[in-house]
Amino acid sequence: MNIGNSDLKEIAKVIKGASKIALFPHVNMDGDAFGSCVALAHALRELGKECRIFISEEVPENLSFLDPEKILQTNNKDDIKDYSLAVMVDCGEMKRIPGREEVFDSFSSTLCIDHHGTTESCCQFNYIDPMAAATGQIVFDLINELILMEGKEPSKEAKKEIANAIFAAITTDTGNYQYSNTQKESHEITARLYDWGLEGNKVSVEIYESNRIERIRLTAEVLSKVEILAEGKVALAYCSQEMLNTTGAKMEETERIAGDLRGIRGVEVAIFLKEEGEKAIKCSLRSKAYYDVAKLATEFGGGGHIRAAGYTTYKDLKEAIEEIKERVQKDF
Ligand code: 5GP
Ligand code: MN
Repeated sequence: MNIGNSDLKEIAKVIKGASKIALFPHVNMDGDAFGSCVALAHALRELGKECRIFISEEVPENLSFLDPEKILQTNNKDDIKDYSLAVMVDCGEMKRIPGREEVFDSFSSTLCIDHHGTTESCCQFNYIDPMAAATGQIVFDLINELILMEGKEPSKEAKKEIANAIFAAITTDTGNYQYSNTQKESHEITARLYDWGLEGNKVSVEIYESNRIERIRLTAEVLSKVEILAEGKVALAYCSQEMLNTTGAKMEETERIAGDLRGIRGVEVAIFLKEEGEKAIKCSLRSKAYYDVAKLATEFGGGGHIRAAGYTTYKDLKEAIEEIKERVQKDF
């Protein structure tokens, strides 16, 4: 299902027609956003194009292996100033590329590749498939379309890099093939990635088994304060700046805590609040079987998927906790 205004062939043609392309992953980039960008960047470079991933934050440590020499990424807008096509990846709203909106807007041609159901066409060309478990799956199809169109295969080395990056995208967005969004195509594409040279275990160890001890200490601290509400159906936890200071961990290292909360028996909705700064709270929402957290996130100006969504609110941590507690308890 594609709810965008362009089909995959049209998107491939737009890319084919551009020689310098900038990729914009969403803020708080995850494995899907960055993995999709890395895969696309390798593929486009193999086709003789210039391509950079334009970011305004550090790549999370557990994903940095995808671009270890930082060849594909840049945070300097001068590096992409003569580029002609801007591509929003794994998001479809200006709000999701804060600090980079102006640069994105300055492009004559814009494209969105996304899989969030709450995304509306915001670019000139849009391919939005809410059925796709990961944007990485769409990107893999797109890369194959480009190969067909150009009649040129990437080198063996590039294929391996692409396979590893697409696998990183799919494994992270499907909770390692466990979440309800996981589909036949997720497995089929992964199977094909092995023919491209996929190093599945190597990528998994980088992503899941390279945790810093500070991360484990922070997780322990956060989980020790979990609150159970609505007769066991809601679990809530938070991470304050103080918790980061005392454990030496980074906020990105809380990434899997929302999933841990959902993993509690009987819990339908998991709520995890992060104090990003003074009066900027990022809230992650997860549900297990029937509750639509995308709808809930939308009420707070955010969005996402039915089982995983989020929003940002400009309040202090205590107020943000009370606000979401009050709202969610109305539904149980
Ligand atoms: P996370 O809680 O891991 O940051 O995000 C869960 C899902 O919701 C991801 O697919 C993410 O892209 C989406 N999401 C998180 N925050 C926002 C937001 O503020 N707006 C929108 N539209 N989507 C969000
Ligand atoms: Mn995604």
